[in-house]
Amino acid sequence: MSDTGGGHRASAEALRDAFLIEFGDAYQVFVRDLGKEYGGWPLNDMERSYKFMIRHVRLWKVAFHGTSPRWVHGMYLAALAYFYANEVVSGIMKYKPDIIISVHPLMQHIPLWVLKWQSLQPKVPFVTVITDLNTCHPTWFHHGVTRCYCPSAEVANRALIQGLQLSQVRVFGLPIRPSFCRAVLEKDEIRKELELAPELPAVLLMGGGEGIGPVEETARALGEELYDYRRRRPMGQIVVICGRNQVLRSTLQSLRWKVPVKIRGFEKQMEKWMGACDCIITKAGPGTIAEALIRGLPIILNDFIPGQEVGNVPYVVDNGAGVFSKDPREASRQVARWFSTDADALQRFSRNALQLAQPEAVFDIVKDIHKLQQQSAAVTRIPYSLTSSFSYHI
Ligand code: UDP
Repeated sequence: MSDTGGGHRASAEALRDAFLIEFGDAYQVFVRDLGKEYGGWPLNDMERSYKFMIRHVRLWKVAFHGTSPRWVHGMYLAALAYFYANEVVSGIMKYKPDIIISVHPLMQHIPLWVLKWQSLQPKVPFVTVITDLNTCHPTWFHHGVTRCYCPSAEVANRALIQGLQLSQVRVFGLPIRPSFCRAVLEKDEIRKELELAPELPAVLLMGGGEGIGPVEETARALGEELYDYRRRRPMGQIVVICGRNQVLRSTLQSLRWKVPVKIRGFEKQMEKWMGACDCIITKAGPGTIAEALIRGLPIILNDFIPGQEVGNVPYVVDNGAGVFSKDPREASRQVARWFSTDADALQRFSRNALQLAQPEAVFDIVKDIHKLQQQSAAVTRIPYSLTSSFSYHI
């Protein structure tokens, strides 16, 4: 995995937790960022460069679309493999893996080459779990994987068009942390625990792991729209989760509010904050969307990262689980309507969200991976003698 955004780590941890629940200590699962720990630049700097690029949207668009052709990213990743393969070999061999799971589009090519050079392919199954719901970068679709787990039929179609075989593709949904899927959460109880007002409906506002998008503007607009000037009282409360965006957090904390507001940094128990709220405003991050669906939260999408998140907007809107509005005022007015005159619509969106949710996906994926591991263990023992160094010619 890699901490580019919050979604890859969240999916990796979801899989790790599901392995523990399903198979106890039969598996040891290591969540690792091979590029950061064993690669050199730019692999060890992906978090910073990704953060920089998504804040400069045009740059990200060029990077996303410019690297889409297979020959472009193929050459780029081959060059990186040439420089860093020896380091990545020792990183992988340290764990003597029985199976490798990738939840990042740039974490397949180099490890797969390493497996090939070490003659470990196909003895060590290598699977990719895609963490985008619709429009994903073609680097996700590596032909050499044993399995490619697609979160939606749209992504599976893209995989087949990109040349993967039907036998490689499985569609179970996006893996979400079991704490979301299995927890029985009582709204009143959680509100008490999180010190939220017990009676007022609550809107959750966030922008992925990095706290990006128009979060500040929307929080300010909500602060106005959720105050009933006629009755001189709030008609709702706001929870803002700023993720790793410290500047956003301190800016919002310095403001004065007319309605109850909770401003938080990076939260580890997202299932509780979502369980305590009645709807969510977020950028179109796949992880946040899938989690909100499981909690039955109507969704207002207020932004998307060009490229990989574009397709998440129709995914939510066309399935009746939410609406899209880039305008902070309009998004806030929508919440105000849901909390006052249009409560029926809120219920309808909530029902549609629950219908679209795939809470069992993470368990279906780990069970399928377990089957693969058993098949491969029955056929062959993995010969873990490390080829000391390798030579490679482009
Ligand atoms: N997240 C979290 N704590 C926070 C903010 C976000 O655990 O304070 C998680 C969130 O629950 C989701 C992921 O980070 O699982 C964000 O993933 P998403 O795909 O929505 O957006 P990304 O950050 O990858 O762009």
